Amino acid sequence: MVAKAEQLYEGKAKILYACDQADKLVAHFKDDATAFNAKKKGTIINKGVFNNKISAVILKMLEDKGVKTHFVEVLSDRECLVKKVDIIPVEVVVRNVVAGSMAKKLGLEEGIVLKRPIVEFFYKSDPLDDPQINEDTAIAMDWATPEECVFLKEAALRVNEILLEFFDSLGIRLVDYKLEFGRSSDGILLADEITPDGCRLWDKATGEKLDKDRFRRDLGNVEEAYQKIFELVSNA
Ligand code: ADP
Ligand code: UDP
Repeated sequence: MVAKAEQLYEGKAKILYACDQADKLVAHFKDDATAFNAKKKGTIINKGVFNNKISAVILKMLEDKGVKTHFVEVLSDRECLVKKVDIIPVEVVVRNVVAGSMAKKLGLEEGIVLKRPIVEFFYKSDPLDDPQINEDTAIAMDWATPEECVFLKEAALRVNEILLEFFDSLGIRLVDYKLEFGRSSDGILLADEITPDGCRLWDKATGEKLDKDRFRRDLGNVEEAYQKIFELVSNA
């Protein structure tokens, strides 16, 4: 049994609680949905339940394949226990297919398959809308050391190999996604969540978007998309 203690932080999608294990946190997944850095707000019914389970299955699968993650165990429908980390303020985006900000910035059609995966760094800052940075900026600003930058890129590419195969086996195209990492006494761990909130997931057969773009772009059937990924991942 884990005894939940005081609330430490409420974010856009999750609430973090202390617990009776000092080196761990309870993460509670909410139904709140935001886009465009919280300029658009809404609710996706049961998103918290779906995302808690989706992230748990994926993080456990990654752990089984040798990726060190913060995930410990699922506690309830909406809560899981994680190792507390000091989040590195560099969001790591991996792209396999052109979409989103890359399409916009370079004037490209969404859907172009990249010759090889791209790893991009963004500075984790809500007030600044997470600007894109490079490794030199992260190092010069002391957001990450040179060794950590090498680790982040290598870990992201390893995670990508595993996730590409995993989603492909479920009939899903893994277009792009965001990862967060944190420092702990066990070294750098993959943290936060891997869910349709932070990934672009397209149905391989139909091209249908099964991720937060349905909310961002008012495409309808938002809950259904999250539920579909939940069912596929739960049965994997
Ligand atoms: P945001 O902060 O962007 O609104 P969330 O609502 O998902 O996002 O809040 C969860 C917060 O917890 C994020 O800022 C994330 O960086 C942080 N976080 C994720 N995993 C851990 C962890 N294991 N230890 C400490 N902080 C974490
Ligand atoms: N992403 C995220 N949080 C962010 C920024 C991006 O989870 O703060 C995810 C997003 O869902 C997508 C990928 O990272 O799967 C790449 O996002 P992009 O740079 O294309 O930005 P977007 O157009 O989605 O804002």
